[in-house]
Amino acid sequence: ALGLTGCSTERGGGTAEPGESEAPAGFEAGATIGVALPDKTSENWVLAGQLFTDGLEAAGFQADVQYAPASNTVAEQQNQIQAMVTAGAKVIVIGAKDGKQLSTQVEAAKDAGAYVIAYDRLIENTEAVDYYVAFDNFKVGQLQGQALLDGLEANAGHDAPYNVELFSGSPDDANSSVFFNGAMDVLQPAIDDGTLVVGSGQTEIGQTATQGWLAENAQERMDGILTSTYGSEELDGVLSPNDTLARAILTSVDQAGKKQPVVTGQDSEVESVKWIMEDRQYSTINKDTALLVEQTIKMVGQLQEGTEVDVNDSEQYDNGVKVVPSYLLDPVIVTKDNAAEAYANVPSLLEIVESYE
Ligand code: BGC
Repeated sequence: ALGLTGCSTERGGGTAEPGESEAPAGFEAGATIGVALPDKTSENWVLAGQLFTDGLEAAGFQADVQYAPASNTVAEQQNQIQAMVTAGAKVIVIGAKDGKQLSTQVEAAKDAGAYVIAYDRLIENTEAVDYYVAFDNFKVGQLQGQALLDGLEANAGHDAPYNVELFSGSPDDANSSVFFNGAMDVLQPAIDDGTLVVGSGQTEIGQTATQGWLAENAQERMDGILTSTYGSEELDGVLSPNDTLARAILTSVDQAGKKQPVVTGQDSEVESVKWIMEDRQYSTINKDTALLVEQTIKMVGQLQEGTEVDVNDSEQYDNGVKVVPSYLLDPVIVTKDNAAEAYANVPSLLEIVESYE
C-alpha cells in the first residue's frame, strides 16, 4: 500500500483547525461533484469527461462535468467553477486551462467548504488546492528523452551526431515545463557531448513552446525551422511533448519532402498508435485515462467518507505557495516493440495493435 505523508497540508476542507484530526470531515453521500475540464486539445480530455460522468454516478454522486470551450477558455472555465461553487458542489475536480488564473475561484470553493482536486494539471500560486492527481509528469519527460535517443540509435541510419529539434507544450499548462525538464534531464548531456545537435539552436523552453497545445502552431514552427535550417541537412529526430503535436510535426516534414524523423509523443491517441504500428511515429506514452479518473473518484470517495485520502508524493509539486499532496501514477513508454504488452489492459488500443500483426 502506498504510504501517507502525514504532513499537515493533508488536512482538507479548509475549515479544519490546527490540532484537529487529519481525516477530512466528510460530507453527505450523493452530493454533487463538479468536474471542470479544459478545452479538448487531446483525446485524453475527451475520454475523461465521459469516464467522470459514468464513474461518479456509479459511485452514487451527482456529476456536473463541464468543458471550457476552445475560445475564451480561461474566462469560461472561471465561470464554470464559480457556478459549481454556487450550486453547492462538495468537491471540485479541475483540469486547468491556465493553472495560474484560478485562484479566485478555488478560494471561493474553499470558503464554501468544498474540496479542490487538481486533475492532471497543477493549480498554481494558491493555498486553495487540497490534492493533485496525475501521471508522473517528470518521468513522462524522461521517457520521451530516452525514447528519442533510443529511436535515433535504432533508426537514424547513421551514427551520431544526430540533428534534432525540440518542442514543448503550452506555456499556460504547468505540465509543459515539467515534461520539458524531464526530457532535458536525459537530452542535455547528449547535447553537451555532441551526440545531438539542435540545428535551429532553439533549446530554451520559451523558444520551443506550442501555444494552446495547438497542432497548427507546432506545424507552423516546424515549417519555419525546416526552411531556415534544413535546406540541405537532414533532420533526424524531434522531441514532441504529445501525439497531437507529433502528427503535426510529421506532417510538416512530410510536406517538405524530407525523410521521416524519429518523433516522440504522449497520450496513446488512436491515430498515433496506428502511425507507430506503421513506423511513422516512433513512440508515445501510455497514461491510461481510465486509471487516472478511477484514482480521482477514489479520492472523492475518501473525502466523502471522511477517511484519509491516498497520496504517494508530498515533495514534487510545489505550486509556488504550498507543496500539494499528490497521487502520481506511473507512465509507460510505448514503441512498436512493446505496444501489445503496453496496451494489454486497454482493449481498444490492443485491438488496433493486433490488427497489424
Ligand atoms: C496533458 C497531456 C496532453 C496535453 C494537451 C497536458 O496537460 O498532461 O496528456 O497531451 O495536456 O492536451
